[in-house]
Amino acid sequence: MGAAVERKRSSNAGNGVSKQPSMQTTAEDAAHSPVLAYASMLGLLLSCPPFVILLWYSLVHMDGSALKTWEFLRDEGLQGLIKIWPSPSLIAWKLIAGYAAFEAALQVLLPGKEVLGPISPMGNRPVYRENGVAAYLCTILVYLLVWRLGWFNPATVYDHLGEVFSALIVGSLVFCMLLYIKGHVAPSSADSGSSGDPIIDFYWGMELYPRIGKYFDIKVFTNCRFGMMGWAVLAITYCIKQYEVQGKVADSMLVSTALMLIYITKFFWWESGYWNTMDIAHDRAGFYICWGCLVWVPSVYTSPAMYLVNHPVTLGSQVALSIFLAGVACIYINYDCDRQRQVFRRTNGKCNIWGKPPSKIDAVYVTETGETKSSLLLCSGWWGISRHFHYMWEILAAFFWSVPALFSHFLPYFYVIFLTILLFDRSKRDDHRCKSKYGKYWAAYCKKVPYKIVPWVY
Ligand code: NDP
Repeated sequence: MGAAVERKRSSNAGNGVSKQPSMQTTAEDAAHSPVLAYASMLGLLLSCPPFVILLWYSLVHMDGSALKTWEFLRDEGLQGLIKIWPSPSLIAWKLIAGYAAFEAALQVLLPGKEVLGPISPMGNRPVYRENGVAAYLCTILVYLLVWRLGWFNPATVYDHLGEVFSALIVGSLVFCMLLYIKGHVAPSSADSGSSGDPIIDFYWGMELYPRIGKYFDIKVFTNCRFGMMGWAVLAITYCIKQYEVQGKVADSMLVSTALMLIYITKFFWWESGYWNTMDIAHDRAGFYICWGCLVWVPSVYTSPAMYLVNHPVTLGSQVALSIFLAGVACIYINYDCDRQRQVFRRTNGKCNIWGKPPSKIDAVYVTETGETKSSLLLCSGWWGISRHFHYMWEILAAFFWSVPALFSHFLPYFYVIFLTILLFDRSKRDDHRCKSKYGKYWAAYCKKVPYKIVPWVY
C-alpha cells in the first residue's frame, strides 16, 4: 500500500536518551505535513478498492492497456466503473473462505519452534510459532495435488478473479472494521491505543499485536499466511490458466513465476526475521497493513503474471536465462541484507560481517513505560553502504519479474513503480522513526552512513 502518512508521535526524554515512538498520534513531528498526511490517507482509502478492480479489468479484459480503460471510463464515467465492477459471487466467497480456513488451520496446527519478536514500545515481547516454511510447502503441494488429482481446477480461480477481488475488497473492509472494534473493546495487549480520530484509527489500526487466543497472531495471518501465500498461489494459478488456454507455458511466464516463487520462498524461509521489520514491529493492524496484505498483495503484486496469462511473450532461452539469473542475484542480495541484520542482532554483534567483526553503535533509548533499553546498529557490511540498501535490490528483483512482459504496455510495470514509491517513502518514515527512537545515536549512524538507499545518489 502506498505509504504516505506517518502517525507515530515521538518524544524526547530530555536526557540525551530518546524515547521510543509512542502509541499516541499527533501530526506535528510526522514524516509528512499533517494536511498532506490526512489527505493521502483519505485518498488511499477511497481510491485503492476501485483501483484493484480497474487493474484487474485492464489486464484481463482490456488487453493490458491502461489507455483503453481510461478511454472507456472517459466515455462511460462512474456508470462504467459500476458496470465493470463484478459482484462478489458465492463461488468467490467459497474460494476465499476455503483458502482462509486452510491457512488459519496450518498456522494453528503445524508444529514449529517458538521465537520471540522484538521488544514493543510498551516493553512486551510477543511469542511466535515458526511454521511458515511448513505452511508454504503444505499449501503449494496440496494445491498442485488437488489439481493433478482432478479434484479442483485452479483455472477456476482465474475465471472468477474479478469476483474474488470484489469479495476480498468487501470482506477485508469488514475485517478491518472488526479490528477497529476489537482495538476499542478487547485489545490483546497494552500495545494498543487510539489517536482520537476514528479515520486515523481505522486506517493505521489500533493494536500492534492483535491476537485470537494466545497464539493466533492476526498480522501473521493477514501479512504472511493470507497475503504472501496468496501471491504464490495466484502465481501458480496464472501458469496453470495459461497452460489450459495455450497448451503450454511461455518462457516469459516461467521466468516471471519462478522469480516470484523464489522471492516468496525466501520470504517464508526468513519469516521470523520479517517479524522484526516495520510491518510487524511498528505498523499497527488496520487498513494500511491488513487490507493491503489481504487485497493489494494478491491483486497488485501478482499483476505482471496476471498480464502474461493472455500475452504469452516468447523470450528465447538466452534472454529468459539472463533475466532469471539477474533476478535471482537481486533476490539473493536483498535476502543477504536482511539476514546480515538478523544475525547481527541475534548474536548481539558477536559475529563476523564480511569476514570481519562488525562496526556498530550501541544505541540507548527509553520505552513508553520509561524503561531504558539498548539496540545495536550495524554500520558495516550492506548496512554500511546505505541505510536501506536492501530496498534497491527489492525494486530491481521486481523489475526482473516484470520485464518478461517486454514493453508493449505500461501496466505490467505498475507494481515496480508502486514499489519504488513505497520504499522511497518507507525509507523516509523509517529514518524519521529511528531518529525519534535513537536520537543522537541515529545521528551518529547517519553521519557514518549518509545515504538513504542508493549510494552517492539518495
Ligand atoms: P528494515 O529491514 O529496513 O528494518 C528497519 C528497522 O531495522 C528499523 O526500523 C530499525 O528497527 C532497524 N535498523 C535500522 N537500521 C539498522 C542498522 N543499521 N542495524 C540494525 N538495525 C537497524 O525493514 P523493512 O520492513 O522496511 O524491510 C524488511 C524487508 O522487507 C526488506 O527486504 C524489504 O525490501 C522488504 N519489503 C518489501 C516490501 C514489498 O512490498 N515488497 C515492502 C517493505 C519491505 P529497530 O527499532 O529494531 O532498531
